Amino acid sequence: MRNNQSMDDLLDGMAPGPPVGVEAAAERVAAAERIVVLTGAGISTDSGIPDFRGPKGVWTRNPGAEKAATIQNYLADAAVRRAAWLNRLDTPVWTAAPNRGHRCIVELERRGQLHAVVTQNIDELHQQAGTDPDKVIEVHGTVRWTRCWDCSDRRPMPETLDRVRAGEADPPCLVCGGILKSDTISFGQSLVPAVIDRALRVSDECDLLLAIGSTLSVYPAANCVPVAKRAGAGVVIVNGQPTEMDRFADHLLIGQIADVLPLLVSGDRKAGDGNT
Ligand SMILES: [Zn+2]
Repeated sequence: MRNNQSMDDLLDGMAPGPPVGVEAAAERVAAAERIVVLTGAGISTDSGIPDFRGPKGVWTRNPGAEKAATIQNYLADAAVRRAAWLNRLDTPVWTAAPNRGHRCIVELERRGQLHAVVTQNIDELHQQAGTDPDKVIEVHGTVRWTRCWDCSDRRPMPETLDRVRAGEADPPCLVCGGILKSDTISFGQSLVPAVIDRALRVSDECDLLLAIGSTLSVYPAANCVPVAKRAGAGVVIVNGQPTEMDRFADHLLIGQIADVLPLLVSGDRKAGDGNT
């Protein structure tokens, strides 16, 4: 036993093999025809984007950041907005690249199995990996666009970040002078009903719901799981820790997402390969 090993090294050394049941789950995935993939922060941590509520999460370590993230504080306090714009200048999202997990979902689409991706993530890494943007349902919005709180004018985030770099600490909307923010759903802000309706509808239509990297504790997105189950779909959950929807899972795979997903998705399909 070496004394200078960190806990992470120890955990790495104890890294288990494939989670129990991955082969049966892979057969289920291979047989599915209309898969809805539900993703949370856990699929993006392998791209260097920290999650918010995990053990090392942004809000777990700095509760003040969660307070600043509420829409009420953002709208009421220019100092909160100035701090938010400074943070946006160097968020890890700008340099993050999609990882193997994102690419596995692209593979499902290539095979014609993907019905939709419902994501709680705001990083657009699914689209960057190559998933058809029309199939991605962003229940919490996207940080790569800005939206005006007053007139809803929407434009690419880099345009506004250029204004911040040029000296506008709290850049107003170019159309109406209103308050700009990233096009994400902040704490205290209502979800977009049409987006949630679509997420629940595709979950009702799928024959397999594959939940990846979410603790499934944030509603209504988490309701996609019971909705799919009630409609007769299979449920596969892949996460690094238990989730609040584990009781609905036909296959529950606890492990490192970027390692487990290739095992789940890349298994040879018995039919189709080479013929399409
Ligand atoms: Zn405006």
